[in-house]
Amino acid sequence: MALGDYLHALLDLFYPRYCLHCNCSLNNSREIYICEDCKKKIPYVSDTYCVRCGADTGPHITYTVKEGCAVCKGKYLHFNAVTSVTHYDGVIKILIHKFKYARQKFLFRVLNDILIKHKGIKENIADVDIIVPVPLHWIKKLHRGFNQSELLSLGIQRYFSKPIIRNNLCRIKNTEAQTLLSKNQRKLNIHNAFFVRQPELFKGKKILLVDDVLTTGATASECSKKLKESGAESVHLLVLATAEYNN
Ligand SMILES: [Zn+2]
Ligand SMILES: [Zn+2]
Repeated sequence: MALGDYLHALLDLFYPRYCLHCNCSLNNSREIYICEDCKKKIPYVSDTYCVRCGADTGPHITYTVKEGCAVCKGKYLHFNAVTSVTHYDGVIKILIHKFKYARQKFLFRVLNDILIKHKGIKENIADVDIIVPVPLHWIKKLHRGFNQSELLSLGIQRYFSKPIIRNNLCRIKNTEAQTLLSKNQRKLNIHNAFFVRQPELFKGKKILLVDDVLTTGATASECSKKLKESGAESVHLLVLATAEYNN
């Protein structure tokens, strides 16, 4: 047994560890938060998702980068491309819920790990100049204690050594949850919800916009619109999870 294993065994004796998803014992395991079985159940998106909107198109449905898929065809999206890592389902949905709504901030480490170790991410990020998290309204941030997209962005910044610009794209409208609204209400709800303090910081930049969950795409699209109005060259949206959304 290596020294590290002895230390683990000793710590397990005093601080028993359990999987955050299925509650099984993590003692004698190198895993810290979720067990090997639950890790295997993470619903990663397949390789056949639409790069324009992030929808999982399945192997038999085709899409083109320009026109998109059946979900986003005819829809105007201000971001140039999407990289989505998982489906908002199963283990991921529960972890994100605990992270955001039960304020278990430490969970960003697990989620960040899933994000940065995703196979396609390295090549997507190589081209990026700066990372910008989707902002929360200050009241919501104060209530939650953190902005989940900001924590994920900080993880990416550390791992890939890319600069991050926070608090320049700001949310000035404390909007209601987009999923509960009709299509027209959503447009009104998000319209003019964001503001850029110093547009020159985004000028000519290839931006990686980071969010935790992509649902209707309206929020990320509105952020991208503001970034482009500030002179950004392109906006690539990176999301941890994509939720199924019909409409
Ligand atoms: Zn488990
Ligand atoms: Zn699409």
